[in-house]
Amino acid sequence: MKYSFYSKKAILEVFKTYNGVLQKRLGQNFFIDPNYVEKIFDIILKKIPKKVTLLEIGPGLGALSHLLKDEYDLYCVEIDPLLCKVLHQHYPEIHLFNTDILKFFQETKENKFSYIVGNLPYYITTEILIKVLHLNHKKPIKSIFLVQKEYAEKLLEKNNSISIYVHNFATINKIFSVPKESFFPMPKVESTLIELDFYPEPKCDHVILEKILRMSFRGKRKKIQNSWKMGEALISYETLYQKAEILGINLNLRAEQIQPSIFYELALQIQKA
Ligand code: SAM
Repeated sequence: MKYSFYSKKAILEVFKTYNGVLQKRLGQNFFIDPNYVEKIFDIILKKIPKKVTLLEIGPGLGALSHLLKDEYDLYCVEIDPLLCKVLHQHYPEIHLFNTDILKFFQETKENKFSYIVGNLPYYITTEILIKVLHLNHKKPIKSIFLVQKEYAEKLLEKNNSISIYVHNFATINKIFSVPKESFFPMPKVESTLIELDFYPEPKCDHVILEKILRMSFRGKRKKIQNSWKMGEALISYETLYQKAEILGINLNLRAEQIQPSIFYELALQIQKA
């Protein structure tokens, strides 16, 4: 079936027909520009082999899903029951789960998705990303996500804790930006399509890395040794100091001045101990 929601009018009408309201708090910004949808679809086709099992997070009214369903074994997870009803009526062939994606991942003992895509709801981008990074059994191979432009820039910057954390699992590339006018309701900022290519194994233990990053980045503009001493010792200061000395880390630098690779080496040293 053709996609019939590429306008503000059509979107508002469908909510009226189904006796519901558009929920901004769920990050509902629907695509209304078919050119960008096709551009993203083409990228996905180029980068993800056809016919594989593909998970789409937050399909909404199906802007991307209606194209993806013909090329992939498509699974969609959508929290809004109204949108699930619309999707099911228009595209019954999609494997559709009406639940919170965080819960879906939480309850997934053995992940079966090597490929995950989505125009992510901005209010839980980090939570979704972390859940994807932590998937086990079958580790994801590639993800293609549309996220807020500022968030993508943060991930690509490499000298902040979320970027260092994500780069422990995957490389991140910017594909292209999407103007805010491509959506209804129009969001405040542009979006950026990013691609994550997962390593077969993370560079270091993520639990240790998270503790190091929390301790290192908690003091704004502080030398790293002062940040370490500021709050709760998630890892003892003595251990950190001793391992930092082995690695020759200059403790007078601020966390954002230190190369990301140093944080992975530090975690590996602590792992070995
Ligand atoms: N894919 C559609 C598009 O591009 O037009 C909609 C994208 S919209 C930015 C995000 C979608 O994620 C919405 O449909 C929203 O209802 C859904 N969503 C929000 N929170 C969710 C959650 N916790 N779990 C699953 N879906 C969620």
